[in-house]
Amino acid sequence: MSYFRENIEKLKGYVPGFQPSQGTIVKLNTNENPYPPSPKVVEAIGGISPDQMRRYPQALGDVFREAAAEINGVSPENILCCNGGDDLLNIAMRAFCDENRPVAYPVPTYTLYPVLAELQNAPVIEVPFDADFNLPALEDTGASLTIVCNPNAPNGSFIEPEELTLLAEKLKGKSVLLIDEAYVDFSSGNCTELAVNLENVIILRSMSKGYSLAGIRFGYAIASKRLITGLIKVKDSYNVNAVSIAAATAAVLDRTYFLKNVEKIKSERARLIKNLRDFGFIVPRSETNFVLARYTRGNANKVYDELVQRGIYVRYFDLPDLKDKLRITVGTKEQNDALIEALREFLDS
Ligand SMILES: *Cc1c(COP(=O)(O)O)cnc(C)c1O
Repeated sequence: MSYFRENIEKLKGYVPGFQPSQGTIVKLNTNENPYPPSPKVVEAIGGISPDQMRRYPQALGDVFREAAAEINGVSPENILCCNGGDDLLNIAMRAFCDENRPVAYPVPTYTLYPVLAELQNAPVIEVPFDADFNLPALEDTGASLTIVCNPNAPNGSFIEPEELTLLAEKLKGKSVLLIDEAYVDFSSGNCTELAVNLENVIILRSMSKGYSLAGIRFGYAIASKRLITGLIKVKDSYNVNAVSIAAATAAVLDRTYFLKNVEKIKSERARLIKNLRDFGFIVPRSETNFVLARYTRGNANKVYDELVQRGIYVRYFDLPDLKDKLRITVGTKEQNDALIEALREFLDS
């Protein structure tokens, strides 16, 4: 006999990337932003008063809603604050899925989706991408929730908003389309407009990547007022806290810092891709803060081991749909140089 529900007993659970406690390692394995957050964020956190700590926070994070609405050209009622983007995925799965209401998404993609579905006992419909990561047919899966991660992890590809508009229209009345835009800050477009114009679209945003706030835990949804109202019923009453609301608000309001930070990562991304290709890696175009590299002159796990010996951590994938590949987060110029130097040590010779 197990104390747990059968699906929980069977569940393997999501495996987070390795987080070292300290040391001088070069950490390019979990897609964190390598630069610190805006100084305004640190200031905002320092300004939290004992009274703010004593009281419950704003249940809907009103100050953040206002700020995020302004930046995205929507109204505050279109915004839902979340304890990281993952919180929104969890809320959506609980709101739309159960034993009789499946979730569908193209694969390979973010491996948290099936874990959340299993918790909910919801059937999972995984539709494979083709080799070029074009959007597969998702309009007739019968799912209640359809998720498209765009740009997609772990390969960095981007589907044009027009294509997702067509999909959303076909899904109307049948399925909610959740577009996971965790990496959108590094891409050439976004689907914000869909979320306000179409009743069945939810956009997920994260403050973890573009705003360097992974440790603070903040993300948000953009959707029609009707969907937001429903999602509010499902979320924890106080799912974001006084500190994270203040931090996230300061971060979105410092546009100058944000844009500069993102530009640095985009230009480092281009340099990293070029260098990796020179070493014989096949690296597709990326619209994120990471690249997916395939090594053509040997096994990628050897490369991974050599890098670990030099204190450089990347992510190694060897899954049925992701054979022998390295996912490398774009670091600072110094971190990327360290990676390139290390590769030169054991690859060129
Ligand atoms: C990082 C990430 C999220 C959300 O992460 P949070 O840290 O919870 O905001 C969601 N989807 C994908 C694909 C991600 O990589």
